[in-house]
Amino acid sequence: MAFTLPPLPYAYDALEPAIDKETMTFHHDKHHQTYVENLNKAVDADAALQGKSLEELFATMSKLPKAVRNNGGGHWNHSLFWELLAPEGQTGEPSAELAAAIDRDLGGMDKFKEAFNAAGAGQFGSGWAWLIVQDGKLKVTSTPNQDNPLMDVADEKGAVVLGADVWEHAYYLKYQNRRADYLKAFWSVVNWNKANELFAAA
Ligand code: MN
Repeated sequence: MAFTLPPLPYAYDALEPAIDKETMTFHHDKHHQTYVENLNKAVDADAALQGKSLEELFATMSKLPKAVRNNGGGHWNHSLFWELLAPEGQTGEPSAELAAAIDRDLGGMDKFKEAFNAAGAGQFGSGWAWLIVQDGKLKVTSTPNQDNPLMDVADEKGAVVLGADVWEHAYYLKYQNRRADYLKAFWSVVNWNKANELFAAA
């Protein structure tokens, strides 16, 4: 069964002004679509990969072709990223449980956002900033390229609660080289309802 591009759960311009319509259109319709197509090509070419979920593939990532790592990560990361964003006014807020864990493990919401933005800004080249649950505690981390914390190759492994794409294609049309400004604006469109759900399941 081939992997498919999920539709955006909102209109292309729904995240403005934080993330503009043109960026969302290219990001979803072109970049994410390409990861899906190249993932399907890689899986089609290798019978041992067929019938497995991305999560199963991530667990043995170090032994699999680079094309699966890049494009499988690309597909999984982006599918989640779209759901982790929501138009202003529909974002909800951190649950009492998630807020308490952020206070306990990360020193409060302000310090968490600071650490998350620093992880994103400090990721050299392309990659992702993450909030994960690791051994029952929240942790801020980042990965290069399309890696994620489910992969056996990740330095910091855990269940994802929140992620931010810091590839240039995620912000360049509106923010050019100002990744920090994009990350600052990102917080206005974080879908806390989805993050709460992921935290409760972690
Ligand atoms: Mn991207």
